[in-house]
Parts: sequence; structure tokens; C-alpha cells
Amino acid sequence: MFALLWLSGCATDPVTGKSAYNLYTLDDDIKMGTQAMAQNVAQMQKARCPINTDSARVAQLNEMTRRISAVTHYPTIPYTVTLFQTNIVNAAAFPGGPMMVFSGLYDPRKGLVRDEDELAAVMAHELAHVNCRHTTRRLSVVTPVVLLVGVGAAVLEAKEQQQWAEILAGGFAVVGALALPAYSRSDEYQADAVGLMYMAKAGYDPRAAPRIWQRAMEQSGKRSGGSGSLTGGFNLFSSHPADQARYEALQKLLPAAMEEYARVRGGYPPGYTPPPGVPMR
Ligand SMILES: [Zn+2]
Repeated sequence: MFALLWLSGCATDPVTGKSAYNLYTLDDDIKMGTQAMAQNVAQMQKARCPINTDSARVAQLNEMTRRISAVTHYPTIPYTVTLFQTNIVNAAAFPGGPMMVFSGLYDPRKGLVRDEDELAAVMAHELAHVNCRHTTRRLSVVTPVVLLVGVGAAVLEAKEQQQWAEILAGGFAVVGALALPAYSRSDEYQADAVGLMYMAKAGYDPRAAPRIWQRAMEQSGKRSGGSGSLTGGFNLFSSHPADQARYEALQKLLPAAMEEYARVRGGYPPGYTPPPGVPMR
């Protein structure tokens, strides 16, 4: 029985084209994520956090999710996005499609998103986590026996206990009866890389992705002179891997993404010159 499960866990990952190990089906992802999201919303409501009250931003997020999810590897799964009015500077994804955006992301001082392309970079990154099925893939490695299906599972971008503690202290309820694995460093790099191509394919300017990390570096530079406390909630943009490393990795991938963008949009944007060797469009 166990051997059978083990064998059944291997399938080709459409994102990489390589064999990947996952004990869960895509339906399991969807069930798990839907349940976790419902619990999360219920707890946020209990904490009187306004949900989806900013109709203009909600409309923008829905349209963006529609547009980017259409170019993902699993375009038909039920993606949803929910906007929470809280000062947390972050976004997160549950397995199988439900995503959360916290309005702190837009904060003019502490937030990191300044325009539509930058928001698209964040959403594309979250959609990439969903498509790479990082949560159930990690659950498959951490838990050898499949007893977890149906258990609410939320994996935020939090990497450290301190961050979890902070979320909880901030009244943000993390669902889950078990300690869930956080995304690993390699998951983050993969979500960055896959998300960069998604946003380009959806016609958003990929230069926005490294720009966010650059801003994150500048902001953490300013913060580093202070007490060191992470006031205002945890921040996906200051968790590891380091901002600088993610910025550099994205910069390296940028020419390929810009080429894709130019293909979709019929040309490069003003102010962008492709590196030598890349055909002009
Ligand atoms: Zn991530």
C-alpha cells in the first residue's frame, strides 16, 4: 500500500517538464486550499478585519488574477483573491488557488507596490507557488503518510518562528492543525523565475519584479539603523533569501522575460534595450 502511494507520488511537473514527487492530487490541493481559506476568512472576520471593502482594488486584483492565471500551467483551477485591510506588507497563496493580499502592500511608505506592473509581479509570484504546488510537494516530503488531506493548510511567506509569532500577535490567524513547512529558499527562487515569465506572458512589464526587490533593499537599508524590530507585520520582502540575491537572480532572467513580453506586446517598452545577441523587436 505504502509502496503504491510512493510510486503514485511521481508525475511529470508541467512547470518544469521533469518528474516531481507529490503524494497529493491537484484536487487535494484545491480542497485543502479552499478549506484553509474559508477558515482564514472566518477568523479574520472574527478579528473584525475588513475584507474586500476596497472595491476598486478588488476589481483590479480580480482582473489581474484572471489575466495572469490564463497563462499559467494550470489555467482552469479556481483561483480567487481576497483583499484584507491590514497593515501587513504581504501576499500569500494557499494550495489550489486561493490567494490573499494584505493592503499594507500598497502603503505609500512601508508598502512596496507602486504601480500595476509591480502588483502583477507579486500576484504572478503567488500564482507560481500555486502552479509549482509547493505546499503539497513539501508536505509530501515532510509527511510520509497521507493523512493530511482535508487538513487546513496555509503556508505564508513566513520563514521563521518569529514571523509566525508576529502574525499571530497581529491578530492574523494562521490556519492549520499541524506545523506546516514553510516555502524553502529554492521554492522562492522558482516562484520568482516562473512568476517572471507568467507576468511577461500576461503582458505586464517584467522589469517591475526586480524593481520591487531593489526598493525592498533600500527600505531595509533605512530600517537597519533602527531597533531591528519588524514593526507593522512581517514582510515577505525582507525574508530570506536575501533581497539582494533575489534581485540579482531576477535581473539575470530579465532578458528572456523581456523577449517574451516583446513577443506578446509586439515590441519592447520605451527605455529598454535588449542585451547584445537578443534580436531587436
Ligand atoms: Zn513566495
